[in-house]
Amino acid sequence: VVAEKPAAAAPETPDIHVKVSSRERLIFPDSDVSKGDLADYYAAVSPIMLPWAANRPISLVRCPQGRGKRCFFQKHDAGVFGEHVHQVPILEKDGSTENYIYVQDADGLVMCVQMGTIEFHGWGSSVATLEQPDRMVFDLDPDEELDFAVVKKAAEDLKEHLAEMGLVSFPMLSGGKGVHVVVPLQPEAEWPAVKDFADRFARAMEAAEPARFVANMSKAKRKGRIFIDYLRNQRGSTAVLPYSARARSGAPVAAPVSWSELREIENAHRWGVRDAAELIERANSRELAGWGFAAQVLPDL
Ligand code: ATP
Ligand code: MN
Ligand code: MN
Repeated sequence: VVAEKPAAAAPETPDIHVKVSSRERLIFPDSDVSKGDLADYYAAVSPIMLPWAANRPISLVRCPQGRGKRCFFQKHDAGVFGEHVHQVPILEKDGSTENYIYVQDADGLVMCVQMGTIEFHGWGSSVATLEQPDRMVFDLDPDEELDFAVVKKAAEDLKEHLAEMGLVSFPMLSGGKGVHVVVPLQPEAEWPAVKDFADRFARAMEAAEPARFVANMSKAKRKGRIFIDYLRNQRGSTAVLPYSARARSGAPVAAPVSWSELREIENAHRWGVRDAAELIERANSRELAGWGFAAQVLPDL
């Protein structure tokens, strides 16, 4: 992939006011990436990550002893993350209220790393319009035996079917096995309508080509197929955020790409935490200009 010259000067890494302890602790032992390296990665990419990560409820994958040791998914915080990590009370289905976490700035991201975070996952809505998603995500999960080429073709097909309905979409390498097809939305329709649309869209893809697509989560039905995981689009669900690191071998990151770049890419973990400078240059390149932006609402389906 040839990155173009940045259209604008690369953003400066912001000053960080969070003290990161145990900077030498290896978080990715097989890649020699330490806690300090990870904190520096997030500080560096914060100008390109925060447009996607700030001011929305997030879930964290925390692995305090590093990747490969005990990790856990954290949605709530009782205040131990300190002043740079904010809380928003959200009413749950059962009538209780839980404090969810959100960040606003680079200090917030780095504070999460200080607390052992590797991955950042986000809701499809922001705290300002919690009930109206501003993003729909189709998470393509291939059966393990399928080539990445098959995943790319599936993503292209989703893009074309979405385009037929007037929806612009953008691909993101998950950093793992698959591709996420991201559909920006004006925050108008509420969660049930967005989930219903995503559900019906995934089922229509399966009905048209049952040999390639499955809209059902069961692994047994996935054999040789791609699961179109539309369930990211329900209230309370999350998807990995652009530029999040992944707690996987090789310290990969979730990376936005253009549709034409995707054709040339050979796997979903093409970039990693060592590539902050390249990711920033790419994000400011003409190739990725406008990635993730489209003022659009759901059509009737
Ligand atoms: P891959 O491309 O390898 O599938 P992925 O990020 O899409 O990577 P999935 O397993 O498909 O991984 O998960 C999709 C999303 O579901 C994740 O990005 C995450 O936000 C959410 N998720 C995954 N595991 C959990 C969990 N234990 N609890 C809550 N949400 C989860
Ligand atoms: Mn996936
Ligand atoms: Mn999934």
